Amino acid sequence: MQTRRTVAPASPLTQSRRIVVKVGSALLVDDATGRLNRAWLETLTEDLVRLRKRGQEIILVSSGAIALGRRHLGLAPGALRLEESQAAAAVGQIRLAHAYKELFEAHGVTVAQVLLTLEDSERRRRYLNARATLRGLLALGALPVINENDTVATAEIRYGDNDRLAARVAQMASADCVLLLSDVDGLYTADPRKNAGATFIDRVPRVTAAIEAMAGAAVSDVGSGGMATKIAAAKIALSAGAHLCIAAGAHKNPVRRIEDGARCTWFVPQGNPVTARKQWIAGTLKPSGALVVDEGARRALRTGKSLLPAGVVRAQGRFDRGDTVSVLAPDGREFARGIAAYSDSDVVRIMGRKTREIAELLGFRGRDEMIHRDDLVMLGGEAGE
Ligand code: GLU
Repeated sequence: MQTRRTVAPASPLTQSRRIVVKVGSALLVDDATGRLNRAWLETLTEDLVRLRKRGQEIILVSSGAIALGRRHLGLAPGALRLEESQAAAAVGQIRLAHAYKELFEAHGVTVAQVLLTLEDSERRRRYLNARATLRGLLALGALPVINENDTVATAEIRYGDNDRLAARVAQMASADCVLLLSDVDGLYTADPRKNAGATFIDRVPRVTAAIEAMAGAAVSDVGSGGMATKIAAAKIALSAGAHLCIAAGAHKNPVRRIEDGARCTWFVPQGNPVTARKQWIAGTLKPSGALVVDEGARRALRTGKSLLPAGVVRAQGRFDRGDTVSVLAPDGREFARGIAAYSDSDVVRIMGRKTREIAELLGFRGRDEMIHRDDLVMLGGEAGE
């Protein structure tokens, strides 16, 4: 998996038409004072303006609202309760937005604030609305500055980290590249702070179980994302056909530094991206439930077939017709996702049975398939033979 510099490291950055740049809280907010790192942010602004001048479209996903707001509310250091984070985000976001407006306006660039919730990406209709807004802003030449709407996010219904949000935004906006700027310079075989033998990986063509295991718990102190959320983001980006880069951002002009060859990890998409609809299904952060299938069904799915009721052995969780569900192998591993054609209570009545029996069992005639092949996407390299 580790190939040395087969792709010039900065090329996706210079060649992409549309780039999502995510900046972590640890970069934006000074740990000791709780204030915005304005001098650094000016250099990031310069970098992004330069990319725009050479014709690239930029979407900025910015963390930092909670880290910036907490000082103004006199909140003590350490973990915050949900309502404290919500309050801190409300205070910090307005300051963050103000700083971006001032900094970009000095270069003649109009910024647009977009606050998203998890539901804006998980519910298809809202996803399509958010996508249309983003496209509209870009078409008008504005630079969208995005954050999670932490003020209304609740513990169960939130991203909590901007890594996955950035990847979801990239997918939403059909971006070709995601740059995650944080306080780590990339992926190592183990946590380098704990393991002196950890080696750096500069290129990842596919997120395998081994890669996921490497993520460990390399969590930074200020933001909420660790390596695990970055790997999850990489999976979403790769399924959308976008490159994703994890790079250290604390230096001045962090984007130029990467273009100049600074060390970073590139996740490189292979082949053609799946359709937009399938990308959306694959990128679902919280499937509503799961269907456990038998080995025969799993093999059939791998060759591109639909999932039939006969191959389902169990339903887990509560879901309705139209909800996204995980498809689990007999060993419990998730290998696919799709849109269920039946609710969990109907699944229980028709699983293991022949398609022609559905009408009699349910009293109505629904779809022949439990998940139609058009609504089904294989995950993590399980794709067809
Ligand atoms: N949305 C959070 C904030 O603005 C940050 C999430 C993260 O650290 O990734 O403070």
